[in-house]
Amino acid sequence: MMDKSLFTLGGAAWINLLNTVVMRNKQPADLLADPEIIKSWLEENGLLLPDIDHPSDQVNHDRLRNRLAALRNMFTQVLNDLECQGSLSASVFDEIKTYTEALKVKLTTSCQGAKLVLEYEGKTPMDHIGYTIIRSMFDTLSSVPPDRIRKCEHENCILHFVDVSKSGQRRWCSMERCGNRRKATQFYEKNKKKKA
Ligand SMILES: [Zn+2]
Repeated sequence: MMDKSLFTLGGAAWINLLNTVVMRNKQPADLLADPEIIKSWLEENGLLLPDIDHPSDQVNHDRLRNRLAALRNMFTQVLNDLECQGSLSASVFDEIKTYTEALKVKLTTSCQGAKLVLEYEGKTPMDHIGYTIIRSMFDTLSSVPPDRIRKCEHENCILHFVDVSKSGQRRWCSMERCGNRRKATQFYEKNKKKKA
């Protein structure tokens, strides 16, 4: 059974998509290879649309997986740029611009009493999913400095997260997955030294 919080611990949909590559037995494993995992990932990120064809449909699944993987590649480049130079390179920005400006999204408005609601709807499911995910990146990059986007400190973990804590001291993808694991190792090492 997959750890449920794995798909949302990044704190933003685009980081959650990056986190679909995980370390397993010291090898990177692509979770998007499994249609059921794609479905869970979409669901937990609020993206499982009623009109998405059933992921057991192989052609559809392949298309969806390829689109998500392409988007994920772009985000990997974004992270590389931010890590290397603290800003986006012109080529990565162009790629983002091209992707974003090709999305077809319709705005819808509704009114509930005094409350006005502005929503969006993709022309196709992939427009909807793509827009939601890429918008989360715009939101992150316009609201936090790049050093708040971090890799988990555990040496065998490649998961990322957006640190939105007040102190900015978050170190682990999650306490359960890595924080405690690390503490347990340190405790073990300390006791081993004492005994030696
Ligand atoms: Zn971790």
